[in-house]
Amino acid sequence: MTYRNFTIETDADGIALVTWDMPEKSMNVFTAEVLQELAAILDATVADAAVKGVVFTSGKSTFSGGADLSMIKSMFSFYQEESARDPDAAAAKLFELVGQMSGLYRRIETNGKPWVAAINGTCMGGALELSLACHGRVAADGKNVKLALPEVKVGIFPGAGGTQRVARLTDAQSALQMMTTGQSLTAQRAKAMNLVHQVVPAADLVTAAKQMIKDGLKPVAPWDERGFKVPGGGIWTPAAAQLWPAAPAVLRRETAGNYPAALAILKCVYEGLQVPFDTGLRIEQRYFTEILRGKVAFAMIRSLFISMQELGKGARRPAGQPKTEFTKVGVVGAGFMGAAVAYVTAAAGIPVVLVDRDQEAADKGKGHCEETVKGAVGKGKLSADEGKAILDLITPTADYAALSDATLVIEAVFEDRDVKKAVIEAVEAVLSQGAIFASNTSTLPITGLAKNSKRPADFIGIHFFSPVEKMMLTEVILGKETGDRALAVALDYVAKIRKTPIVVNDTRGFYVNRCVLRYMAESYNMLIEGVPPVMIENAAKFAGMPVGPLALNDEVAIDLSLKILKATVADLGEKAVDPRHLELVTRLVEQEGRFGRKNGKGFYDYPPKPAKKSLWPGLKALYPQQKPDDVDMDVLKERFLVTIALEAARTMEEGIVTDPREADVGSILGFGFAPYTGGALSYIDGMGVKAFVALAEKLAKDYGAHFRPTPLLKEMAEKGETFYGRFNPWGASEQAA
Ligand code: NAD
Repeated sequence: MTYRNFTIETDADGIALVTWDMPEKSMNVFTAEVLQELAAILDATVADAAVKGVVFTSGKSTFSGGADLSMIKSMFSFYQEESARDPDAAAAKLFELVGQMSGLYRRIETNGKPWVAAINGTCMGGALELSLACHGRVAADGKNVKLALPEVKVGIFPGAGGTQRVARLTDAQSALQMMTTGQSLTAQRAKAMNLVHQVVPAADLVTAAKQMIKDGLKPVAPWDERGFKVPGGGIWTPAAAQLWPAAPAVLRRETAGNYPAALAILKCVYEGLQVPFDTGLRIEQRYFTEILRGKVAFAMIRSLFISMQELGKGARRPAGQPKTEFTKVGVVGAGFMGAAVAYVTAAAGIPVVLVDRDQEAADKGKGHCEETVKGAVGKGKLSADEGKAILDLITPTADYAALSDATLVIEAVFEDRDVKKAVIEAVEAVLSQGAIFASNTSTLPITGLAKNSKRPADFIGIHFFSPVEKMMLTEVILGKETGDRALAVALDYVAKIRKTPIVVNDTRGFYVNRCVLRYMAESYNMLIEGVPPVMIENAAKFAGMPVGPLALNDEVAIDLSLKILKATVADLGEKAVDPRHLELVTRLVEQEGRFGRKNGKGFYDYPPKPAKKSLWPGLKALYPQQKPDDVDMDVLKERFLVTIALEAARTMEEGIVTDPREADVGSILGFGFAPYTGGALSYIDGMGVKAFVALAEKLAKDYGAHFRPTPLLKEMAEKGETFYGRFNPWGASEQAA
């Protein structure tokens, strides 16, 4: 029998080597077809008396990334359609559906012949769960081998036996840590945790896996053996009495109760370890169904899995444009941002010319790249050779002529219109026909900058976020005259450096900074009202923001906030900013000398390491303080989320952002907007536009006109619309929800 996604070769010893190698895919993923074929392979190998055992491996450089986008999408649309008709029947069907994978794995585990997973590369989610259902696991020794159950990051959890098997292979604390954080394990760490049996050189992988079978590997999982004991003794031991009462509290500290899937992992393990294995699987299946039916899983999967992948794969790329081959990228301005852009470009294998005003400044920029490489090599993220290869691709120079054959030039010079104008002219003087010019400006509208260009159709914004190496998002900004080719080149470049793009029309602050400024402005309002600063920071974190607004302002720099406020007044008039904000920030910068983290003094004090930062006590003296008991933390949380969501809605209304996927993904990747909501617009859709409008109106009454819902929101509330319905990015053919 032949299969589309697998090949099978049975050797003279009767060991069937099943190689998973999906056609037309760079990575193996689970689809309905893969599961069907896997079930058929299982039946065939069981039926074939000549087969003594199975080694399961991958024909790709990675093992498997887990579930496929289309499978997840179809499961959600099936559930939505069904539950609109009959919610109970839909839930029952979903329960059956989620049990299919788990059931298949259990059949493999109990088939009577030994299976060994030969893990040759990254092995994630459902693929690791499959490996755990095999009787033996051998992993290749190498940096490319990572094992993880990362489901929690998209609002779900390992639902194909993962919670039960991991907790029966390793101690409960490590199991919980691994699954509630979704962390990646190296092969060595997985072995230390007892999740794999052997770690061998990549070249010996299949031989070692076959050897396990030849050595008489028993086709029985430990938990199916009589007298099996859970590592560490299970739930009723003194050690467990230390762990379990504290576990929900620790989880609450980490997640503020915002992630039901993380709590479900605790429940699955705690309850599952007290019952026979098959009952444990049933418990897991129940919780998994419950989580899948919830708002959080739906919103997180849509934004962080489906939309992020779609945007990454070029959902907004204009049709008909040829794929760009980057032979050389120029970066002008070798400062803080330019050097980092040069680094990520070279790390993607593209030769870079790094230009600054003189050789010394350009060399300094390359020096930053050298520091970055040193850090990465020190942490084991790069080998010395890989680091050297990256640095060899970066050529620092003061000579613009070196840009003549660049495919794309990105400028990251001072944020000054005149300096940028001179640079645009100098670059265009040498740039070849068809090459694209991009600006990394954070505040200057692209249309205005493009006025200095002789070829505005080839002019675009590529806005990076700091730290560039870590931040996954880039905003691609369209000027009024930007053409399709410039957009295609920008998106190809962003894909090449493996970041996620959002495409935004030109506006002051673009998308991300507009929202971030609202977040920080609301913290100014709270300070001015006399809310104790620590409550402001904590409320933001409880709302799901990764960094409090005051800490964030320190990172961005308070003097930069002052500069932005002043520029806004200069450009748009005094009414454009709240005078109390200007007064607060002016006082901090000009009287108190508090610039933020960069001078060790901001909303926080930054003592020398290892001491930790702490809120500046002087903050409390600036405004009469409210009593903590008089402050409602829930309202503070709402104010942060609502003010940002309103700004996101405004950008849609103004046509700045046109696709709700981009507003959502941009808000999570750009500034960590409460990921459990699925992003700023999903937050509105999730509670319903009508409820959101009512909430905004209430906040407007209590805290100011900036909370007033916009005309679009009111109209949508009246019509019962959602953002994903009204601005359906998938077109009529697909369920928008
Ligand atoms: P920076 O001061 O660290 O670097 C600017 C560099 O430009 C310096 O090395 C300078 O020598 C060089 N330069 C100035 N004039 C030049 C010229 N005529 N020709 C060649 N090089 C010249 O500034 P930065 O923080 O890296 O910011 C650069 C740009 O990136 C700005 O437009 C800024 O708005 C934008 N940006 C900054 C951040 C951030 O977090 N700092 C984030 C996103 C975007």
